[in-house]
Amino acid sequence: MYQSSKSEAIEVILNDEASRGISKDVQITIDRKKCNFSMYDPTGCQKCLRICPVNVFATRPIEKRNFSIPPKERIDPTVWILLPTWADWCNGCGACVQSCPKGAITIQIGKKSIAPPS
Ligand code: SF4
Ligand code: SF4
Repeated sequence: MYQSSKSEAIEVILNDEASRGISKDVQITIDRKKCNFSMYDPTGCQKCLRICPVNVFATRPIEKRNFSIPPKERIDPTVWILLPTWADWCNGCGACVQSCPKGAITIQIGKKSIAPPS
């Protein structure tokens, strides 16, 4: 699976290994093999999503919803993915990397690397 979307400022790349948000000065990578994000499963994680002070992280369903079908007849996708969609808002605070229980996030911001302890 490969999917990307591009604006003038940010490129968001998703594949089976990782989701990445890339802007001019910042690259944020979420290792999807390590991350146990879940939108609905209470045992899943949303720590980075909740802790980031500038809302870098966003979620979306893995399949596009068909809004032409009336809501009562539509079966919405249940699998959602986590993306560092707004990478260029990152201030390098490191809170997401420190709070991630799976060591799934790495950040390059300018010349500074923020990585989980090895
Ligand atoms: S380093 Fe701080 S600002 Fe950047 S994505 Fe993580 S929590 Fe958000
Ligand atoms: S904190 Fe880590 S494990 Fe939790 S949702 Fe974010 S990247 Fe995934």
